[in-house]
Amino acid sequence: MDRIKMTTPLVEMDGDEMTRILWQMIKDELITPYVELKTEYYDLGLENRNATDDQVTVDSANATLKYGVAVKCATITPNAARMTEYNLKEMWKSPNGTIRAILDGTVFRAPILVKGIVPYVKNWTKPITIARHAYGDVYKNTEIKVPGAGKAELVYTAEDGTEVRELIHRFDGPGILQGIHNTEKSITSFARACFSYAVDTKQDLWFATKDTISKKYDHTFKDIFQEIYEKEYRSKFEELGIEYFYTLIDDAVARVIRSEGGFIWACKNYDGDVMSDMVATAYGDLSMMTSVLVSPSGVYEYEAAHGTVQRHYYKHLKGEETSTNSIATIFAWSGALRKRGELDGINDLVAFADKLEKACIKTVEDGKMTKSLSLISTCENPVILNSLEFIQAIRNTLDSLM
Ligand code: NAP
Ligand code: MG
Repeated sequence: MDRIKMTTPLVEMDGDEMTRILWQMIKDELITPYVELKTEYYDLGLENRNATDDQVTVDSANATLKYGVAVKCATITPNAARMTEYNLKEMWKSPNGTIRAILDGTVFRAPILVKGIVPYVKNWTKPITIARHAYGDVYKNTEIKVPGAGKAELVYTAEDGTEVRELIHRFDGPGILQGIHNTEKSITSFARACFSYAVDTKQDLWFATKDTISKKYDHTFKDIFQEIYEKEYRSKFEELGIEYFYTLIDDAVARVIRSEGGFIWACKNYDGDVMSDMVATAYGDLSMMTSVLVSPSGVYEYEAAHGTVQRHYYKHLKGEETSTNSIATIFAWSGALRKRGELDGINDLVAFADKLEKACIKTVEDGKMTKSLSLISTCENPVILNSLEFIQAIRNTLDSLM
């Protein structure tokens, strides 16, 4: 069989620990036998980030801007323990944070659904994709613990020195204060990323805030979304038969629970933080959650939503058997290959990505899975496979689909 040829390289960002082990297995067993893989390789493993003073992370993000599509392995975000474990020069920042800052993106997370793993919400038969705004609000706040009676004001000083003041509260005793902000620029790119992703994946887009209570702050989010929709996206949405739908956040929560899924739910920063954990848990498992960073300029970076699965890696290092689920990482590869195929007009690559995903799902539905999946599956007699056996089982299924 001829291997599928690529024209533009994918930006490949390798990572750490157990997911780095899976990364190589996925390439060897599931990608290179079928595709003449063309990548520009960046080693984002912690050792190389340390050796390059984290320049490799910046370079990989810039390469993503250049080529348009990246696939990323999970990476360690250093903490105090990692400083000693890897003898680090500095506590390097989260690679995802660095990449997001350069690409200016929004992260979309969606569950992978398979028969036998039943969401806690029984009517959720299609995936719900959460898009979380990743800038500002309570995550960039300023707080004061008010010691006693006094007056609190909100003051804005323009560059020419003119002031706008609003009374927040006259305290007659101790209390608390919080200042939060956002920018039109950030909200606008968030909105564009959401609308383009909806067009891209042909799904409805829901957005919700508390604009009835927050008549300026939240209302601005609502207005910016509406304006961008009318000016730039309404006709595309109508052409595709998809809908943009705005409602109050409490109404949205009630509707989401009653829905069958199959839409994108755009959330403000805090709502997205909280709701993505709820949605992920309700669908079953973090190892079945995909994640893609979409920039307003239409650049894509695909990854798994989970981390480096450190505990499994230590077992692996001791020579013990692991049963780590590689599906979300495989879907990062298939997502990136499909997007590359779409952009470059390589239909075989798009079809291959579809088959690879189908093979993952069919393998699990046929009862072959990793340990963590067997614990949440309703499958009667699952065959529990180790990390490599599971990938090889997917390869067998894939061969039967080719
Ligand atoms: P994690 O790697 O997601 O693992 C947490 C636990 O979830 C695992 O110990 C495992 O449970 C289970 N799990 C996650 N993925 C799994 C899979 N594919 N197959 C089977 N089980 C899976 O999160 P963490 O332990 O909090 O973080 C480890 C490292 O990852 C940290 O250094 C963190 O900085 C990094 N991290 C990176 C990213 C990223 O690059 N996007 C995201 C999150 C965390 P059991 O051990 O009970 O089997
Ligand atoms: Mg959270």
